Amino acid sequence: MVTVEPGLIGGEVNRILEAHKKKGGHDIQYKIGPDPSSIDSCMIGGIVANNSSGMCCGVSQNTYHTLKDARIVLVDGTVLDTADPESREAFKKSHAALLQGVQALAKRVQGDRELTNLIRRKFSIKCTTGYSLNALVDFPADEPLEIVKRLMIGSEGTLGFVSRATINTVPEWPNKASAFIMFPDIHIACKAASILRNETAVDAVEMFDHASLLQCREISEDLSKLVKGLDGELDPTAASLLVECRGQSPEDLQASIDDVCSALKLAGVPFGARKLDPQPLETYPFTEEAKEYSVFWDVRKGLIPIVGAARETGTSMLIEDVACPVENLGDMCVDLMEMFHRYGYMEASCFGHALEGNMHLVFAQGFRTPEEVKRFGDMMDEMCHIVATKHSGSLKGEHSTGRNMAPYVELEWGAKATELMWQLKEMFDPEFVLNPGVILNHDLDVHLKNLKPSPAASALVNRCIECGFCESNCPSRDLSLTPRQRITAYREISRLRTMESRNAEEEKRLKDFERIYEYDGNATCAADGMCQEKCPVKINTGELIKAIRAEDMSKQTTASNLAMSVARHFSGLSSAVPSFLNVVDMAHGLLGPKPLEVVSQALNKASGRMVPVWTPYMPAGASPLKQPQPPAVPQADSGIPRKVVYVPACVTRMMGPARGDTITQSVPDVLLSLFSKAGYEVVYPEGLSGLCCGMMFNSRGFKEASGFVGGNMEAAIMAASEGGKYPVVMDTSPCLSQVKSSLSEPSLRFSLYEPVEFIRYFLMDKLEWEAKKEKVAVHVPCSSKKMGIEESFMKVAEKCATEVTSTGVPCCGMAGDRSMRYPELSAASLQHLNVAGCSDGYSTSRTCEMSLSTNSGIHFKGLVYLVDQC
Ligand SMILES: Cc1cc2nc3c(=O)[nH]c(=O)nc-3n(C[C@H](O)[C@H](O)[C@H](O)COP(=O)(O)OP(=O)(O)OC[C@H]3O[C@@H](n4cnc5c(N)ncnc54)[C@H](O)[C@@H]3O)c2cc1C
Ligand code: SF4
Ligand code: SF4
Repeated sequence: MVTVEPGLIGGEVNRILEAHKKKGGHDIQYKIGPDPSSIDSCMIGGIVANNSSGMCCGVSQNTYHTLKDARIVLVDGTVLDTADPESREAFKKSHAALLQGVQALAKRVQGDRELTNLIRRKFSIKCTTGYSLNALVDFPADEPLEIVKRLMIGSEGTLGFVSRATINTVPEWPNKASAFIMFPDIHIACKAASILRNETAVDAVEMFDHASLLQCREISEDLSKLVKGLDGELDPTAASLLVECRGQSPEDLQASIDDVCSALKLAGVPFGARKLDPQPLETYPFTEEAKEYSVFWDVRKGLIPIVGAARETGTSMLIEDVACPVENLGDMCVDLMEMFHRYGYMEASCFGHALEGNMHLVFAQGFRTPEEVKRFGDMMDEMCHIVATKHSGSLKGEHSTGRNMAPYVELEWGAKATELMWQLKEMFDPEFVLNPGVILNHDLDVHLKNLKPSPAASALVNRCIECGFCESNCPSRDLSLTPRQRITAYREISRLRTMESRNAEEEKRLKDFERIYEYDGNATCAADGMCQEKCPVKINTGELIKAIRAEDMSKQTTASNLAMSVARHFSGLSSAVPSFLNVVDMAHGLLGPKPLEVVSQALNKASGRMVPVWTPYMPAGASPLKQPQPPAVPQADSGIPRKVVYVPACVTRMMGPARGDTITQSVPDVLLSLFSKAGYEVVYPEGLSGLCCGMMFNSRGFKEASGFVGGNMEAAIMAASEGGKYPVVMDTSPCLSQVKSSLSEPSLRFSLYEPVEFIRYFLMDKLEWEAKKEKVAVHVPCSSKKMGIEESFMKVAEKCATEVTSTGVPCCGMAGDRSMRYPELSAASLQHLNVAGCSDGYSTSRTCEMSLSTNSGIHFKGLVYLVDQC
């Protein structure tokens, strides 16, 4: 079991459990039971309060069945910790009346066969409509504390706040395989799901209808490559099942796969995307390759945002979450799709956890006119009747009731059970102040009021459905805004800006939003694009912020002209900076750190955050660039010359080690030595002192200056590498990434290397290795993560140290010099930096290393130093 506070993200809890297994050398990997597709963005508090479930957990491993204990804060401020005997005893005394009330309700329900049967029937499938009434029948009435604990689950904060949860974990078997099976008809796919549920021990069965398949193949070329027939013509009723089997041992897994395949074959159902082109089941084999099944599951997990992103701009995406006995699933899906089409929701899609009869319905709706709102209201009435009345289903399978479904609770549960829910609410929250109107609401039109519009704002982000998947990767998430919040706030600014006329209140709202956005939205965005890595539809909120900056800069002609002048005379800047850094470093030595800190902080403030804040890890100037040394070992007589073009970035040409560092060489000194040891001839590009990748201009919005220096860089690399004939090494990850992204000659990108990748693929067999360090930290810069070379960092570092620990931080937030001017950005991003027991740390970006050192207290430097020492 695991005890966690409510703000921890579900996926993070699983990663902690994984690390615990590794550290303790345990045999079995455990995880929390609920596995919502939003697990990397939703938190334990929300998981408990929504009674979340997901793909594999079904109804047996959902939060209700896996929560062991909870610390609950009631509306009167009382804290009940169900794991603590003292707290339980104190609560029994202080809240005797509440417990008696709960006890009386439980007795009443348990004595009412009709109600008990209804509750048991409803919770035999997924159900999060209304309160967890099963708590009243699952426990003896004289155990009211157990009942209280379970009532909190799925109560959406309307009965109390959960401030800590102890969850019984479940095993995560290491052997997995998945198959993506096509069916010509959704009815047949649902029948197959029902057979798998009744006749096998399959772990997950997820259904995709025709509309979702079309969106998936649009967004994932890999999926189309892996699933035969998906990229061709599909029958309009076609559907697919994503099936997963797991096993403790490879033999268990194979047995489970065999069961699934024979059950499907015996069922005699047709396979394939078209009736007229039937396929054998073998066309859709199970794969145990993580690379392949991750494609299936990444698409499935991102399906809500993927389908939502395809909606018409200006409309909102709505998700319904219905469930029914799996035997009725095919009929319910067909009824619902027919209904959607009748109401004109032609793009609506239906997909989800078929094994549990739980489907998500995604459709787009504008709320711009009374007619649009009426259409939505009429459709909701009919949908609820189809699900709850015709198919005896749940209007909410796992997303909880919210306010949208509150008017329909009575339709699903009937008057008696609904009355019971009102009584519970009144017992726990007599003044109705906790999350008012959620789950239970007397206003039967509440779902048609206060509807949130989704106005067009920028083509860069219009497709966002505000799912929040991107948030956990964002360095500013604990400081200012997350990417989702940046987009939401920008939408509101755009809505207000484009109004034909604004009243005084709207005018003030716009001014307030613009003022707050300047810091929270714009200044503290690292523009690193790490949000894009987690977004299922690949939205890069950093691009929006860069566009805002570029627009701002285009209005400031003096600043733009100055930037252009710096770009034209870049060699002047790059030769002046080392001397300046040496003067500052000398002052550090003479005066100590305090005066420099105080003065730089004052200047930073006075200059409107233009002057960087000094830290004791600020580097001294780099020593002048040395000419390449001749190779120390003779070149192999293989006919292929060992020649490399080396481009020291402007930061490594300007910045050397920091005071207190044990080394004195600069990054170029060390790389030249490594190239020489490996027998490489090195050439610099022409005019190196004037070269810059352009990132420092681009991230500030100086497009013209960025394009100018970027063009010069490309031409110089092209000439030095003789059109890409020789590998080109750039020693700073973000600069390499910037150059790659702005090339006009895309083929050149295949000749460009990060130093770590070059070492791994070109130098590994040419250097001698000895793991001389014990435990070191490695931080893979965000740009390297985006280039997909994280593994190379670990592989190279593991040659040099007996234990290598990753910092575990997606992005340090340095963003060139942004965190020198806004140090709180790196401080927030690096607050959970994992460097315990490490003697030193390594990365491949000099400025990132500075912020990592400042926020960890150990010296971070280029990974090339580690290689050189070993
Ligand atoms: C794209 C997408 C996919 C999803 N897929 C699934 C899925 O597969 N399975 C599934 O079950 N759900 C799914 N969900 C729904 C939702 O993400 C989950 O149910 C999730 O657990 C909610 O967590 P959250 O942190 O986002 O909570 P929030 O949305 O922040 O909160 C949910 C409710 O809980 C209350 N609450 C939050 N914390 C506490 C607390 N500490 N104490 C008391 N009340 C609290 C809030 O007031 C709110 O009413 C999905 C949602 C999205 C957007
Ligand atoms: S940008 Fe973030 S919130 Fe928007 S769709 Fe992508 S992941 Fe979801
Ligand atoms: S670009 Fe970076 S800082 Fe900006 S929103 Fe995306 S993840 Fe956050």
